[in-house]
Amino acid sequence: MNKPLDVVIIGAGTAGLAALREVKKRTTNFAIINDGPWGTICARVGCMPSKALVEAAKAFHRRITFEEFGIHGANALAADMPAVLKRVRKLRDGFVASTLKMTEVLGKQAISGRARLLGVGRLEVNGRELHARNIIIATGSRPVVPASWRALGERILTTDTLFEQENLPTNMAVIGLGAIGVEMAQALSRLGLNVTAFNESNTIAGLHDPKVNEVATELLKQEFTLYGGEKADLAAADAGANGGVRVRSKTKEVVVDRVLVSLGRRPNIDDLGLETLGIELDTQGLPPVDPHTMQVADLPIFMTGDANKRKALLHEAADDGHIAGINATRATPVRFERRAPLAIVFSEPGIAIAGSNYESLDPGTALTGEVRFERQGRARAAQRNKGILRLYAQPVTGRLVGCEMCAPGAEHMAHLLALAIGRSLTVHDMLRLPFYHPVMEEGLRTALRDLAAQLPHCNESDLAGCEAFHAEALD
Ligand SMILES: Cc1cc2nc3c(=O)[nH]c(=O)nc-3n(C[C@H](O)[C@H](O)[C@H](O)COP(=O)(O)OP(=O)(O)OC[C@H]3O[C@@H](n4cnc5c(N)ncnc54)[C@H](O)[C@@H]3O)c2cc1C
Repeated sequence: MNKPLDVVIIGAGTAGLAALREVKKRTTNFAIINDGPWGTICARVGCMPSKALVEAAKAFHRRITFEEFGIHGANALAADMPAVLKRVRKLRDGFVASTLKMTEVLGKQAISGRARLLGVGRLEVNGRELHARNIIIATGSRPVVPASWRALGERILTTDTLFEQENLPTNMAVIGLGAIGVEMAQALSRLGLNVTAFNESNTIAGLHDPKVNEVATELLKQEFTLYGGEKADLAAADAGANGGVRVRSKTKEVVVDRVLVSLGRRPNIDDLGLETLGIELDTQGLPPVDPHTMQVADLPIFMTGDANKRKALLHEAADDGHIAGINATRATPVRFERRAPLAIVFSEPGIAIAGSNYESLDPGTALTGEVRFERQGRARAAQRNKGILRLYAQPVTGRLVGCEMCAPGAEHMAHLLALAIGRSLTVHDMLRLPFYHPVMEEGLRTALRDLAAQLPHCNESDLAGCEAFHAEALD
């Protein structure tokens, strides 16, 4: 029998690399195995190339406000799609190279191949059996594509293939408007493509608050054709390999050149051998994982990142890996307090949720405060005065519990609110903070004041009681 390794990490994405960072500090007797290209989903085909595309689209889209600013000649500007995509790949290559440095130094401890569990403490890769005292599963996820659609070959794209395209055709459909679908549909449309988007449900971008969802949906509808509540099916529009795709829902039909399928992501757990662990798996084939230790049941196995399907977000994957890396090198696992929930969609206006979402609130008791950005001073000055922010707080105590928004500056305000929620701050605590003038955060303050009006008054000597001027220039 091979000498057992202290830890084997399966998967070298963000979660696997975070685990590696901690494991390396504690033992030299480890290996990391990765199937397919190294360099992480985030850097290769995920967060980073998608944000590079989104930024190009935002930069180009800005031109539609130029006349209002008194700047002429915007009509002469053009988005050169091959050049846009080339820049995305150039940036992507740099991001990938930065992550490769972490595994290139490992020599034989970094194994290329597909790992399969053979039981607790045993796994197989490239026909070789390895023994490990602890195993960290960090196998990530992949795009969901219905089997029947795969026959459409290159006519359908996912984010695994989108950024590899040299150019994109004029007419595209986007199927699925979760975070990725919304970002990509808006970016492609802003870059000049004719985008038609279909979403099976009427809620988009992971939102739960009906008011925020309505505003977000209406704003996106002003930019591209969006059919909500329409489950789409795909078929080849003609026989040629390079022909179009017919997208059909119950009431709509459109023929496009290519379709971006963004129906969500599925954990890479098929054929991983989880059934050899002797524990009960749920209906999706997933084992029970403690989010505070990342431990699978009571086994010396830890499951992290997108693979455990808890939250498919990068910072959560990194935290999962950190926790697993420490616990896989300890006799007994330590429990970690998790951070306040935070999710951001890089649309414009940005969409974000921090803390508890609307659906998880107690409808009978939770207080809501609201601001709309149409008349917000700084947002008007920037021609970005669209959107809504809704805050949720406990009655009486005024403790902030969550928020949902589709608002200018959402990514920054959501961080501020996640901090406040994580620290159990109240509405009055927040209103004691300085708010500079003129900033988008003054909009957030308006929503806080809306909540404060529903709470017991604070002392007269407390600046939290400072009220609005109700004048656009000053609030
Ligand atoms: C287009 C897109 C945009 C995104 N944007 C954001 C964003 O803006 N913000 C954000 O927070 N998150 C974003 N995400 C999500 C984020 O990228 C993921 O949550 C994160 O990358 C997951 O990391 P991971 O380590 O779990 O998996 P991965 O990075 O997928 O790594 C898993 C690795 O394991 C390998 N593997 C799989 N099976 C095996 C096996 N059996 N043996 C060996 N190796 C195996 C895989 O090949 C892969 O290399 C985005 C994702 C996508 C696709």
